[in-house]
Amino acid sequence: MTYTYEAASLSVKAKKMRDTLVDYIGIVSHRLPDDVAAKIKELGEVEVDPLQQLVYETMRENQLLAENLNRPSCQDTGALQFFIKVGTNFPLINELNEILKEASYLATKNIPLRHNAVETFDEYNTGLNIGTGLPTIYTELEEGTDTIELYVYMAGGGCTLPGAAKVLMPGEGYEGVVRFVMDQMTSYGINACPPLLVGIGVATSVETAAMNSKLALMRRAESISPNENAAKMENLLEEGINNIGLGPQGFGGKKSVMGVNIINTARHPSTIGIALNTGCWSHRRGQIIFDNQLNYKLPLNEGVSL
Ligand code: SF4
Repeated sequence: MTYTYEAASLSVKAKKMRDTLVDYIGIVSHRLPDDVAAKIKELGEVEVDPLQQLVYETMRENQLLAENLNRPSCQDTGALQFFIKVGTNFPLINELNEILKEASYLATKNIPLRHNAVETFDEYNTGLNIGTGLPTIYTELEEGTDTIELYVYMAGGGCTLPGAAKVLMPGEGYEGVVRFVMDQMTSYGINACPPLLVGIGVATSVETAAMNSKLALMRRAESISPNENAAKMENLLEEGINNIGLGPQGFGGKKSVMGVNIINTARHPSTIGIALNTGCWSHRRGQIIFDNQLNYKLPLNEGVSL
């Protein structure tokens, strides 16, 4: 069985949205979002030893070259994932999946992006960067509105894709949540190209916690949970993970994380679902908001226009 892709017949307006997204995926692949760039700068200023300073200097140079030469920030351009909130009156809602699929395909050819779509069991690379169920599209409907907010995420094979999730017995409590996070960070944190943005989901099952942990990576690096207790835990975990001493690219150092973001939703009394995902130093997630006329805003990329 071979995966084949046939371009959809899109309306004129849908083509306009697709082409804007292709351009934006190019920006996301070359340029770190403002919050991540600011954190990298801040953390680089904290390190005093030459080795750590050299790593941050290399990251800065990498970013400069990526932007100036129009090359991806990292060779792993990830599996494309879209996290979407769309109004039920958004005019292109019926063409959305095809717009995103075609934008991913064209972005792969034009930017270009690495081919990262391997069909499972059949074990071949489609060579298109799209495949069965790829790109990944998560959609939340917002009743009665006519705009769309999309997070575009290049999910890397060393950082966010090897996330982990588990359901704890309620007796394990929030100490169990901390134990799970610290176990994960001490075992695979170093492989994920620190400093890391740590996304944690707390919910009722593996899939709800996993989704929360992914959405937590869409939050800005410096953001704080609106839940007071979750915010306290974000602080404590940030301190604890920094104390592991991973440092930039795992070379040791004072800071290992750009931030710890928790998103929590309600749980069944018998369960505590917990999941963790990490964004690496090259955390390529963007956000684009379209109105019903396809005017757009880029909240994470000040000064950029497409
Ligand atoms: S973890 Fe991030 S920076 Fe490291 S190889 Fe993967 S995508 Fe690139």
